[in-house]
Amino acid sequence: LVVLRDVDKHFGALHVLRSINLTVGRGEVVVVIGPSGGGKSTLCRAINRLETIDSGEIFIDGRPLPAEGRELAALRADVGMVFQSFNLFAHKTVLENVTLGQVKVRKKDKKTADGRARQLLDRVGVASQADKYPAQLSGGQQQRVAIARALAMDPKVMLFDEPTSALDPEMINEVLEVMQQLARDGMTMVVVTHEMGFARSAANRVVFMADGRIVEQTSPDQFFSNPSSDRAKDFLSKIL
Ligand code: ATP
Ligand code: MG
Repeated sequence: LVVLRDVDKHFGALHVLRSINLTVGRGEVVVVIGPSGGGKSTLCRAINRLETIDSGEIFIDGRPLPAEGRELAALRADVGMVFQSFNLFAHKTVLENVTLGQVKVRKKDKKTADGRARQLLDRVGVASQADKYPAQLSGGQQQRVAIARALAMDPKVMLFDEPTSALDPEMINEVLEVMQQLARDGMTMVVVTHEMGFARSAANRVVFMADGRIVEQTSPDQFFSNPSSDRAKDFLSKIL
């Protein structure tokens, strides 16, 4: 469903993505881990075309990423993204946050969009917060609304870039549980996270990235018990 072929990206002299080859199948959950500055966020942003790439190719569902215009907006809807910072629309209610894109991008009528929004808010456990503004919600609740907002576009794949790292510890699990459920429901997911428990239980594959390269990709069992690269061994010894 997501294919990256020989993707390279520089920021000036800094080579942040080095010949990245990655395929994410439909329904697959890929967890990306690795040291800070390794290029994980840049990889996610490239898949959503929030960053351009210097060379290589990226395909979503068999189609190359569009460069601009209406097709790019459609791509962004197909590729849901949840960031570390919740970035909900502050001046819109929770319900409005989840209906807006459905009406504007997916061209649904207001009533249909409302119904779908309430259903999704219920699914992520914040149905009772629908008429509040984001600032009135906890971080964990805001992040769950952000997930509902992305899901409302009926994305083909969901990208998560450290969705729990800005949260207080007691709120991390409520967000991870929503993501676990999404994974069980068969959503295709690329998840950058430091939550190793999530990686172990939800990932079909772990991709270890360092210095702009995919150093290894393997099953979570294999990765955590017997990583093949010294770079991954070193990384794991520091975090586990
Ligand atoms: P972290 O775990 O800290 O989030 P990361 O693996 O997500 O790290 P990236 O954010 O992808 O890493 O950054 C990779 C490298 O690119 C870093 O050295 C970073 O400083 C640099 N970088 C990221 N964005 C930009 C930018 N817009 N302009 C210049 N350099 C950038
Ligand atoms: Mg990052």
